[in-house]
Amino acid sequence: MAKNLKIYSNSIHTGRLEANDLTFYLARDEETGERVVGVRDPSDAAQLPFTQLLFSQDGDQYFAPNPENAAILRQIIPWLNPAPMGAGEGGVEVPSFGFGDRLGLATPGHIHALRAVSSAGEIYPILAQQSVRENTRTGRTPQQVMDDAMWGVFQEGWQLPWGGDADHLKQESDLAAFVQAGYTFFTVDPGEYVDLAADTDALQVLNDKIGAQPWNEIGEIPIRQGELVDLYLTFCSAAGWPCDQSAVRQGSLRAFAKYGRAVIQITKMYRALKQLMPGSFDFEVSVDETETPTSLLEHFYIAGELKRLGVRFNSLAPRFPGRFEKGVDYIGDLVALEPELARHAAVMRHFGGYRLSLHSGSDKFSVYPLLMRHAGRSVHVKTAGTSYLEALRVEASLAPGLFRQALTLARQRYATDRLTYHVSADEARLPDPQSLADSALPGLLDDFHVRQALHVTFGSALANFGEELKHMLKTHPADYDQALLKHFIRHLEPLVPKA
Ligand SMILES: [Zn+2]
Repeated sequence: MAKNLKIYSNSIHTGRLEANDLTFYLARDEETGERVVGVRDPSDAAQLPFTQLLFSQDGDQYFAPNPENAAILRQIIPWLNPAPMGAGEGGVEVPSFGFGDRLGLATPGHIHALRAVSSAGEIYPILAQQSVRENTRTGRTPQQVMDDAMWGVFQEGWQLPWGGDADHLKQESDLAAFVQAGYTFFTVDPGEYVDLAADTDALQVLNDKIGAQPWNEIGEIPIRQGELVDLYLTFCSAAGWPCDQSAVRQGSLRAFAKYGRAVIQITKMYRALKQLMPGSFDFEVSVDETETPTSLLEHFYIAGELKRLGVRFNSLAPRFPGRFEKGVDYIGDLVALEPELARHAAVMRHFGGYRLSLHSGSDKFSVYPLLMRHAGRSVHVKTAGTSYLEALRVEASLAPGLFRQALTLARQRYATDRLTYHVSADEARLPDPQSLADSALPGLLDDFHVRQALHVTFGSALANFGEELKHMLKTHPADYDQALLKHFIRHLEPLVPKA
């Protein structure tokens, strides 16, 4: 019996294979919800390199969307490959936005939201993005994350540039798998090398700590503390900020002691990447998960040292004051945050060539306008888990029984799973899903406590009901698409300058 296929018309691409013009496209099997790769060869002469032929129909051949076929298509269709955006001269001058996707089914919805707010690339999307921590919990490999995003790009025919972010890399051994999988954006998190005690250590201890930093491991000598003080004072007075000499002297000593080892680690990671990457790449430095906010002096120290050491970073994610928790808006004093953002942006402009990056960037609706006001287009916003929450919103309305199981599991797992995340939801305020009517379930996705609990327990949930959830989304793509569209338009609109 003939298959009922829906061809994704945006995916249709004519490309050359061994001197033959072939047509490639993606289609959906309407019975199963699964996608298949369609190939039309009018000459009937090409030796198709694809694996796993599923069926032929009306003269076209259909193959499985497997990793080998993904790799072949990337060679034929250039826009299926992610690309670095660069920075400064020759770089992209629009805000960039990271769309994490823990299920691997959200890219079409992300692209619809991008198209809804920007017609000609006013936002540079990072469509593949996952941290080592997330991959551990979802059981996905860097290559699977990249391939899933690529199938979404193919389906929607997104021919503008896009990137792939290997997020929160902590050690050199994390790099190779992401390089291999074609990532173009590497986020290094030196958090384990940040010395938090330096905030309160006695001066002698600070000096000892600085003396013990292993600069010889990278064959470099650190900046002299006096030079750092002079540079900061010059910058500070040019910026017209009040700068107390003795405070700067002490602050620079603390910054040096606190972040020196982190700078060494970042430099090592950068150099290791240069060895592994034949071409250019985007490099982000993230200290957003440290316990205390990044002071301006610390930002100045980190950026200045990295520049001096030849580390070409394209974005830097400070830890801003207040609480940037997962899946909810900013918690803190916006009136105090704004001048701090403005000053971080001034430090960024002083050194130039990079963006301010906002991690845990989902749902920070009150912060986006402030960020745009002060950092302009030199902004990167990173979101990771809310595409998963939107999937659960769809689940809550279409498969309430399944959603109840996810929430029940979240209540059991939250105390454990929250430990590696910045969240403050109260376990006692998670409702018992058995006590609620079906109609009350979708609204729970707007509840602070439920949102965060579901957000951080995704690994446990996917291990238990991931397949059922994915099947539900594949058989109801329009519902998921609508949910993502609505959610991300709210995120992206503030980043696009009004005409
Ligand atoms: Zn982060």
